[in-house]
Amino acid sequence: MPDSKLLDARIPGGPIEQKWDKARFDMKLVNPANKRKYSVIVVGSGLAGGSAAATLGELGYNVKCFCFQDSPRRAHSIAAQGGINAAKNYQGDGDSVYRLFYDTVKGGDFRAREANVYRLAQVSVNIIDQCVAQGVPFAREYGGLLSNRSFGGAQVSRTFYARGQTGQQLLLGAYQALERQIHEGSVTMYPRSEMLDLIVIDGRARGIVTRDLVSGKIDAHIADAVVLGTGGYGNVYYLSTNAKGSNCTAIWRAHKRGALFANPCFTQIHPTCIPVSGDYQSKLTLMSESLRNDGRIWVPVKKGDTRSPDQIPEAERDYYLERKYPSFGNLVPRDVASRNAKSVCDEGRGVGPGALGVYLDFSDAIKRLGEDTIRERYGNLFDMYERITDENPYKVPMRIYPAIHYTMGGLWVDYHLQSTIPGLFVIGEANFSDHGANRLGASALMQGLSDGYFVLPYTIGNYLAQTKADKTTLDHAVVRGAVDQVQSQEKQLLAIKGKRTVDSFHRELGKIMWDHCGMSRTAAGLRQARGQVNELREEFWTNVNVPGSDAELNQALEKAGRVADFFELGSLMIKDALEREESCGGHFREEYQTPEGEAQRDDERFSYAAAWEYKGVNAEPELHKEPLEFEYVHPSQRSYK
Ligand SMILES: Cc1cc2nc3c(=O)[nH]c(=O)nc-3n(C[C@H](O)[C@H](O)[C@H](O)COP(=O)(O)OP(=O)(O)OC[C@H]3O[C@@H](n4cnc5c(N)ncnc54)[C@H](O)[C@@H]3O)c2cc1C
Repeated sequence: MPDSKLLDARIPGGPIEQKWDKARFDMKLVNPANKRKYSVIVVGSGLAGGSAAATLGELGYNVKCFCFQDSPRRAHSIAAQGGINAAKNYQGDGDSVYRLFYDTVKGGDFRAREANVYRLAQVSVNIIDQCVAQGVPFAREYGGLLSNRSFGGAQVSRTFYARGQTGQQLLLGAYQALERQIHEGSVTMYPRSEMLDLIVIDGRARGIVTRDLVSGKIDAHIADAVVLGTGGYGNVYYLSTNAKGSNCTAIWRAHKRGALFANPCFTQIHPTCIPVSGDYQSKLTLMSESLRNDGRIWVPVKKGDTRSPDQIPEAERDYYLERKYPSFGNLVPRDVASRNAKSVCDEGRGVGPGALGVYLDFSDAIKRLGEDTIRERYGNLFDMYERITDENPYKVPMRIYPAIHYTMGGLWVDYHLQSTIPGLFVIGEANFSDHGANRLGASALMQGLSDGYFVLPYTIGNYLAQTKADKTTLDHAVVRGAVDQVQSQEKQLLAIKGKRTVDSFHRELGKIMWDHCGMSRTAAGLRQARGQVNELREEFWTNVNVPGSDAELNQALEKAGRVADFFELGSLMIKDALEREESCGGHFREEYQTPEGEAQRDDERFSYAAAWEYKGVNAEPELHKEPLEFEYVHPSQRSYK
């Protein structure tokens, strides 16, 4: 049964296009002179955290910003390649705020909250203006106007980009805004600092416990509100396209302190990654979805055809996406493209080592546009591909295969981006996001910057305006208790002195997750996986070997804490996947598919966001539901034909 008290999404009334205006007008304000009396902790300096910290600093709050890298500039957001969506309609090709809203709700397979998605589409246009004003060098047309390309799940060109380095350029924009505030003294930056616990006093988020990753020192920090912009948890699968350091610790430990975790099983598998090449690989590389603008995906018609691609005549190639989905062709959404790649490989028509790959072929585009144009559009991606595979994609087709890329699940937040713990706000990939069961390409950067630049600065003000700035001190019993807990977990990990490395556990956990809670899932597989994950977790706590001490730079200790959290999260993801007896977006339960092999939703039973409450490491979590209502985009079987 829905628990309306816990899960009040605080969606404003009125027509959808007026909700955000109305909400902003109804919000309480903190007057400019009072803002400096409030302090805010922002954990994360990626596009979400960096933009939020800079904006809150500019508004006049006292901000402390934390990241585990040596510079905010190294947040994982820097890896984003393809682009950022916005409903500017510069192309005059039929785009609008409403169409971006519609595409996103449909793309997410009707498992997102309509009001949030509409606001995201509205705010998207401001993001581009903000970034251009900061000097972000978006690609331009010959005449000087900003250029656009297409991404999956849309029939318009609304993606703004800076070659294949869009995340890097956007992050440099946010970073310079943040640096300015650091210079002004409104933001204090704490690099190489990892949040290891959330401090909750009298039911409100009041601070965090951190470890200085260089000296090992444990500290507590107190504030009037805490914001988590700590990214996604795709690395639970060990192999993913995420930066190696990305992890779930901040949100998981907040979850253990009472923040509900929503839709943990909604993970995104990206169709165009460089295939796995061996057992000792520790990282996968994305080839941006933007490549599907010009690259054509195909496999041989015949099973087990091992001829080189140039020896396979046109009539013996199957451009399966163009064949099955003529309207969207190679630009179907990621979940659809990934499942189709898996299914042609399962049929025995895959290419390359282990037959786990499909071709992404640029020969037609090069013939049509010339190699220089293709180099201008995707040069850095082609270079990256060649460095990794030693094959020249201007001459032979790329080989690609789906890989874990993004997590739609995360901490549950209401319309104000506040979690179920008052004073704890969650932004960017760390929250359960506006993307439902499947995120469309180029929409994560849009959401992170929308949250950080344009939504949170209003909603957190509304919270603070109703909160007295009181002074809790570091010797408060709750603060000391949280610090002790962090220290004793570190001591416990160091004392095990077992026989296996942290990485060997992580790799094994990732394999279980990929095999049973990855691209396709079954009840039997999920049940088996839950047992395996729990057993492996027990072994971890008795047999892991963490060398070194806690009073120094110790990357094994850092990883051990993160992997300990991945084990618990992995178990919850499996539980959530088992509970959701339907297929939707990236969550594909083999038992629930249409005769054509597409995801089959069960709106009667599962039109809700699943929000889980932590009950203890060996206890079953409790499910709460936020029912989803679709007033504007009516749920239907998604079709991209
Ligand atoms: C290879 C790749 C390419 C992508 N390309 C695109 C694209 O073209 N378009 C698009 O829209 N999306 C893209 N995405 C997705 C997008 O990049 C991410 O979803 C987005 O950048 C996440 O931003 P974020 O600010 O939420 O988190 P992140 O950028 O991951 O930042 C997290 C921050 O939190 C900090 N942090 C985390 N945990 C802690 C802790 N415990 N203590 C202290 N600090 C902590 C980190 O130090 C970091 O500063 C891509 C993703 C990948 C993997």
